[in-house]
Amino acid sequence: MFSVKTKPGSPGKVREIALLGNPVLRKVAKPVSDFSSSSVQQIIADMHATLAVSNGVGIAAPQIAESLAIVIIASRPTPRYPSAPSIPPVVMINPLFDIVDDSPHKDWEGCLSIPGIRARVPRYAAIRVNYQDQQGNRQSMKLSDFPARIFQHEFDHLQGKVYLDNVENNADIITESEFQKLI
Ligand code: ZN
Repeated sequence: MFSVKTKPGSPGKVREIALLGNPVLRKVAKPVSDFSSSSVQQIIADMHATLAVSNGVGIAAPQIAESLAIVIIASRPTPRYPSAPSIPPVVMINPLFDIVDDSPHKDWEGCLSIPGIRARVPRYAAIRVNYQDQQGNRQSMKLSDFPARIFQHEFDHLQGKVYLDNVENNADIITESEFQKLI
């Protein structure tokens, strides 16, 4: 079971998800500079809480209307992604990535900000992410397959992009109800 990690005294609040059409999803997110800021720590706690109730496998701060370069990758099986591998949630701040394996893999994605829709999107098979953790320490993590896909999806949100911007053909877009028949 997924547990929400929060600092004592700062329980995360479930926030409203910004939906496609909200201008915050089209803004480039600002880098985090003050890691001791209680508002930054509260935003991270709120992202954990919001992700936990939404059956998502990742979330970016702009999705709770906070235009900051923060993502959480939390691959786990959920009703939305039944075959996702279980990996403890990782908070990645100011992330950048290098391509480790540039062979494009096309697979299904969805987005909490775009309910009711799924689409097949090409992503790099393996990447190395350089980021800062919640304390501001520099970290590096290699991701491949589904977790790499989750990161590239969330990274798009920090650039003011959404996954539908990467769709190669409109025929790769389907409804959630048709997607549920496929899995
Ligand atoms: Zn998304």
